[in-house]
Amino acid sequence: MNESSSSSNFTIYGAKRYYAPDVVLEPTHMALSLRISIDNKSIEGSNTITLLSNNDNAKELKLNAVDYDFVDIKTEGLTWRYDEKYIHINLNSALDKGQTKEVTIEYKVTSPTAGLYFSGSNDKIKWCGSDHETERARHWFPCIDYPNVRTSLKWELTSSENYTILANGKFISETNNGDGTKTSIWDHNHRCPSYLAAIAIGELSEFKDRELITDNRTIPIAYYAINKFSSEDLQRSFGRTPEMIEWYVKKFDHPLPWDKYYQFAFPDLGGAMENQSLVSWDDWAVLNKESFEEYGELIDAINIHELAHTFFGDLLVMSHFSHAWLKESWATYVDALWHEDNKGTDYFQYEMFKSAQGYFGEVDDEYIRPIVQNYYNNSWQLFDSHLYPGGAWRLHMLRNMLGDNQFFSAIKDYVDTFAGKLVETIDFKRTLEKHSELNLTEFFDDWLLTAKGFPDLEIDFEYQKDENRGKFTIKQLQVKKKDPIRKEPFKFALEIGFVHEENGILEIHKFNVKETNHVFYVSLKSMPYYVQIDPNYRLLVRQKVNFEVELLINQLNSPLVMGRLQAIHALCRIGKRKAIIAVIEHYSKEKFFGVRSEIFKALSKTNTQNTIQAFVDFIQREKEPKILRILFTEVGKFRDLRIEAALKEVINSGLRPQALSVALIALGKQRNQDNLDFVMKFTKDDGWHYHARASAYQALAEFRNISIIPQLLEDLDTQVYEARKSIISALAKLAIYDDKQVKLNVIESLTKLLRDENDQIRLASVNALGNLKATSAIPYLEDLKKRHPYQQGVIFEKAINKIRDVESDKDLPKLLKQVEKMFTEINELKSSVQDLEAKVDKKN
Ligand SMILES: [Zn+2]
Repeated sequence: MNESSSSSNFTIYGAKRYYAPDVVLEPTHMALSLRISIDNKSIEGSNTITLLSNNDNAKELKLNAVDYDFVDIKTEGLTWRYDEKYIHINLNSALDKGQTKEVTIEYKVTSPTAGLYFSGSNDKIKWCGSDHETERARHWFPCIDYPNVRTSLKWELTSSENYTILANGKFISETNNGDGTKTSIWDHNHRCPSYLAAIAIGELSEFKDRELITDNRTIPIAYYAINKFSSEDLQRSFGRTPEMIEWYVKKFDHPLPWDKYYQFAFPDLGGAMENQSLVSWDDWAVLNKESFEEYGELIDAINIHELAHTFFGDLLVMSHFSHAWLKESWATYVDALWHEDNKGTDYFQYEMFKSAQGYFGEVDDEYIRPIVQNYYNNSWQLFDSHLYPGGAWRLHMLRNMLGDNQFFSAIKDYVDTFAGKLVETIDFKRTLEKHSELNLTEFFDDWLLTAKGFPDLEIDFEYQKDENRGKFTIKQLQVKKKDPIRKEPFKFALEIGFVHEENGILEIHKFNVKETNHVFYVSLKSMPYYVQIDPNYRLLVRQKVNFEVELLINQLNSPLVMGRLQAIHALCRIGKRKAIIAVIEHYSKEKFFGVRSEIFKALSKTNTQNTIQAFVDFIQREKEPKILRILFTEVGKFRDLRIEAALKEVINSGLRPQALSVALIALGKQRNQDNLDFVMKFTKDDGWHYHARASAYQALAEFRNISIIPQLLEDLDTQVYEARKSIISALAKLAIYDDKQVKLNVIESLTKLLRDENDQIRLASVNALGNLKATSAIPYLEDLKKRHPYQQGVIFEKAINKIRDVESDKDLPKLLKQVEKMFTEINELKSSVQDLEAKVDKKN
């Protein structure tokens, strides 16, 4: 909750502290009776809200309700006013504590800008589905749109009789109205914050999975998507759900609270969302056989993530967005735990390794911020790599501090105690402390409540033969003398493993690291075969090891995934010929796909003839569908004729949809104009989800050839949404190479798209116009911003700032960082010069 200097890059001008609203008059139940027309994109009907007075003299209520066509309240005993943003209600006579009152709001909304999304007017298949996180429910039903306000829900939804109608809760009835419509009633008898309320309507296909019996209740499980997908596709994509639920309720020893577990996947929803008993997905997640082989495991991981929210987020609800780590970090960590229990330690460590890299990446490229903070421009901003992987790692460290038995019994206690209640970080901390008798205040301060970051270690090791010992020098590079939070080093127990060739047994020593520069000695009878830092992978530390190449090469033989991953990255960082060749040679021996994919990532940071030849070999030899995408992404970093030839060959030989997409972009990056037509023909590709078609446009943008712009402008008329979005960013990328007419044409077309009915197309155009520094678009961007939800405001601000060229503000912290680094280096140089001088003085 601390906006330290380090987190300044996180926010832009206008950020402030946010707090949850008071709930003196608290909505406890909402009965929504709505007629929804997909053709007219309209919602019309009423919301009857039951209010409970939590204190004497409760009179006032302010409901979020943005841009409604019409609002009316006929309930007696109150006055009301609507100002396009809020419905202000004043009761004529105040309620005493414990008293309730029902208020019925009649309203109509047409084409809401957010919250409820509709099929396009030209789409053949009709659908409409909600997606609220973080504050978008207010765009289509009146509510107090913050997580600390939770109501039970009754949905009475009327729409075409040809549609399937779904909502949170238990199915009650469906009645045909005899006028081409039907009314479907769903009852959700759980306290649900507005961001977890959900509906889905449309021409849908369905797969009913096996029912689950838990806690003496039968829970139906089913999946839905628009009916261009088959029931088989749905089963393929989500069919592991029942066994996941079984694992989950057993792991945390708490029953699934819902009356059903349904999932729906609709176009353009852009992610997945853990709505209570009705999880939503972008239909990108629906898989055919080929794409299942490529990213079926990713969909499983997301499936587990959303399921994990059942307890962490849905049943235990954060009292305010600032505590969102209690749900997102948990869901990310539960995904890793599922891998650990179901696929083994290698998978688990690899998941945690990817999490660490994701978090480090955001710290390096963007900002450091406290995991728990209420200072922001909008709540959606918090949902970043600090929150998901960064927070997951903090949970992993807490687990290691407490040990598995204590940690998991504390978590069971936490879930049991707070089920159905609001939670804050302190509730979680106190539960862990109760079970462990540890004082976790320092840990929470260092790792969650301040922008201290993580230990960024440089580790030297020297074997001192005469003394029969090893010497470790450990530096905490993140320490900044002048930063009030980062001036103190982290304190942690670091395990270091030694393997001696003779026996291959890992011998672990523990060191308590407390200083910025810490030196340790360990007695060793001989030079170890290799040394592995944190062999059990318990700490979120980044390690730069300055070990002898020979030790690292030996470490490639570690039976532990983390041992090999660390060696690969260290060897490539050293970059000596021998080191690079060892990594390349290891590829053929490596059985675990995750480690091979890290070879691609690490090796692409080197740039030798051996590297190029290795990538050509990898393109020809790698057959694991899960990692081809990573391989081609890394290959795209090199421009070379041999790579170009290998790419064309592998594309011609036939690739699965995602691999093909990335291979096309890598080919585009070769910028050989002779390949233009080759790539162009993929802009007609009808493959799964139009992956290849969309990527072909991105590939074309890489050719830096503005002569294709007219063709792209023509293609903008396509009905294929995936392609349109891609054409928009391709146009922005290409048009910067032109300084006159062509660029103006592009800007004109993109400005027109700011009126598109699809919000994702509008937002893609906002980004593109920002990248093109289109001054003429500023008034339209400012105008459109007013109609978009508040949580998308930052996208507009950033585009407008780019055009006005205030980008330098963004670069300033980076420059300052560099200056600071230079100063540290100069000081270090100074002190070593002084040391030298001192030595020279002594000798003289
Ligand atoms: Zn989540």
